[in-house]
Amino acid sequence: MPIRTYGKQRPEQEKRYRKPARSRARRAERIPSELPVLPLLSTVVFPHMVVPLRVGRPVSVAAVEEALAAGGPVLLLAERKGGGRKDVKPEDLYRVGTVAYITQSLNLPEGDLQILAQGATRAQVSEFIQGEPYLLARIQPIEASAYTAEKTVEVEALMRSVQSQFESYVELNKDVPDEVAAAVHQIDDAGTLADAVALAPDIPHEDRQQVLETFDPVERLRLVSVLLSRQLEILELKNKIQSEVQKGVEKVQRDYYLHEQLKAIQKELGEEGPEGAAMNELRRKIEAVGMPEEAKEKALKEVERLSQMPAASPETAVIRNYVEWLVSLPWSLETEDNLDLIQAAEILDEDHYGLAKVKERIIEYMAVRKLSSSMRSPILCFVGPPGVGKTSLGKSIARAMGRKFIRISLGGVRDEAEIRGHRRTYVGALPGRIIQGMRSAGTRNPIFMMDEIDKIGLDFRGDPAAALLEVLDPEQNSAFSDHFLEVPFDLSKVIFITTANMLDTIPHALRDRMEIIELPGYTEEEKLHIAEKYLVPKQIESHGVTAREVKFSRGALRGIIREHTKEAGVRNLERQIASIIRKIARKIAEGRTKSTVVKQSDLEKYLGPAKYSFGLAQEKDEVGVATGVAWTPVGGDVMFIEVNVMEGRPDLILTGQLGDVMRESARAALSYARSRARDLGIDPKAFESHAVHVHVPAGAIPKDGPSAGITIATALISAFSGRPVRKDVAMTGEITLRGRVLPIGGLKEKMLAAHRAGIRTFVLPEKNRRDLHDVPKAVIRSLNVVFVNQMDEVLNVALLEEVKPSEKAA
Ligand code: ADP
Repeated sequence: MPIRTYGKQRPEQEKRYRKPARSRARRAERIPSELPVLPLLSTVVFPHMVVPLRVGRPVSVAAVEEALAAGGPVLLLAERKGGGRKDVKPEDLYRVGTVAYITQSLNLPEGDLQILAQGATRAQVSEFIQGEPYLLARIQPIEASAYTAEKTVEVEALMRSVQSQFESYVELNKDVPDEVAAAVHQIDDAGTLADAVALAPDIPHEDRQQVLETFDPVERLRLVSVLLSRQLEILELKNKIQSEVQKGVEKVQRDYYLHEQLKAIQKELGEEGPEGAAMNELRRKIEAVGMPEEAKEKALKEVERLSQMPAASPETAVIRNYVEWLVSLPWSLETEDNLDLIQAAEILDEDHYGLAKVKERIIEYMAVRKLSSSMRSPILCFVGPPGVGKTSLGKSIARAMGRKFIRISLGGVRDEAEIRGHRRTYVGALPGRIIQGMRSAGTRNPIFMMDEIDKIGLDFRGDPAAALLEVLDPEQNSAFSDHFLEVPFDLSKVIFITTANMLDTIPHALRDRMEIIELPGYTEEEKLHIAEKYLVPKQIESHGVTAREVKFSRGALRGIIREHTKEAGVRNLERQIASIIRKIARKIAEGRTKSTVVKQSDLEKYLGPAKYSFGLAQEKDEVGVATGVAWTPVGGDVMFIEVNVMEGRPDLILTGQLGDVMRESARAALSYARSRARDLGIDPKAFESHAVHVHVPAGAIPKDGPSAGITIATALISAFSGRPVRKDVAMTGEITLRGRVLPIGGLKEKMLAAHRAGIRTFVLPEKNRRDLHDVPKAVIRSLNVVFVNQMDEVLNVALLEEVKPSEKAA
């Protein structure tokens, strides 16, 4: 049975075909050994196959004309890849083709021919005899009968397997007409079956040619099986990908439609679905939270957008988050201020000892608030070393005024966005710390504490200080803009309190907006009082014991202050007290004691050996070592400046990480000593034959400033003259080349440090006398304060008489 190609012919076309000159009966004749060649472009024709071919190239037309005239067959030869030239050359053609009879032909306009060719048998070209006007080839027909072996079980199996492969293929490929599938099923010759299957649309022409060239039918069947299975694999994969894509698309569409339908149904029924309910809930909240008009409009608009959006859209989460932020902020919720001044003052005193200035400021504010409610909130800045009660004071103020308290830390904040938030377009965007703080405060008039304002940084991500300026400016903060919120938020009812260890690193513009309140640190007596009245009762209570069970003697507390802590504040003091109470609480719990009084002599038992020695008076006075005082961020500290004079080339060595100002001040001190050598009892030649080394411990901590000038000079003169310096005399002051003593800063902290260290005499510039009123009276009373104008006066106080060599040895 001849096999038709897959191409469909139109019937009317078929009618117009002309019959070839000789009848079909001739076909049984022997095939001539020389045949005109009809080159095929990108197609392969198999025996038993009927194909319509359009013939256009002159060589092809000539070949067909010749065949028609002779009433004989043509040789159909496929062109190799890249063929298709007008004048076909033998090199362009494969050597194996199909002998075919032209059963019909039709002249088309423009000289083209439409023919119907029927494949008869395979043939191999042995040589090309002529190239013009058509290609003529000598051929060797391949007799199918030469290969037709008996149909073994194996061949049968192979055929069935190819047939079933083809069935699966037809199922997956819709381009194969059903008739073809049925026809293939009926073929019972292995070779014919292979040829028929090789026509499957997806098999490339090169592979088909290979099938044509495989003469052994069983081999051919195997080859076809391989080709087919490859196509099957490709098809299966393609189908799988397609169906997955399809599934995804369908699900989204289905969900969307279902949602829309649900909404429509609910609307029709006058019900609200879970989504609608959520939207209405949001709207209710927006109304309830009392936003200003602008914010409310914005929020409602966003809810409207949200309700228009399919629930699965990724943007819904973003919008919902935004609206939820808006409704969670305290737009109008306010606590009522306690304006009972007497009660407030009581609360402040109850929580903190001393600190009169701050307490007064707060009471004043409350008094004015009582008279005028439009009073601007103060912006305070507590400056002082750690542990002086800055944080707990903030809390206490909140308690006294009946306001909420919220605290954030600004330490290490470098990014403006941390203050002002990220724009909503960023993934995971949030409001800044201010707005976050307001949300957790829950009211719009809390006491808002911002710690470590002296430690905010500045880098390429913008300047957080600039954002803070807006927060801390009463003119602007009634409409604070956060990038995330997009609508202004009113911060004008907030009382801001910032804290800092030092003023120097706070940007100027910020410093100007705040009322600076300094908390310099406590005197020993104050600490004692704080410990007795506040820290011990607080710790007793928090450890679950009673004041009857645990008592501290005054001596014990003083011992802790002097020998187990060294600080401006009381944080470590509180810690040590807690540690002792903990140990006693354990004993009580274990039933080993009923009540304990902690005495000074017990401290070693509880806290270990003393960590600091108190009272420098007990220490030996030395040559070349003078006692200075320095200001540090954790309060003041006492330091010892050492000078060594060594024989050798004159030189000034300075160590201990001294800054430029301090180095220059050492140079000035040396020049002064040199110029006054004779008056000071020093051999002027000594400076020419000695190197001087000035060292300021602790060596690893950077130090700077001019205020150690007189201390360095004293140590220097002591070293050159051999007169020891009194250890219990601390001094501070800048020195000029002429020996004048100039004023210095940080006096309060320095005097407190001297007082803490048990210094007896404190030498300071006369010009600093006016700063003394800031210094606690107890400190002044504990020290012998000496004001000086000239270096001579310093030396008079600090230097002892030269020690005789005999005494030195003793
Ligand atoms: P800062 O914030 O300055 O570092 P804290 O507020 O943490 O210091 O204070 C440390 C501890 O010392 C707190 O328990 C605080 O109650 C206590 N304290 C500090 N100053 C006083 C004071 N004047 N009266 C009572 N307790 C104080």
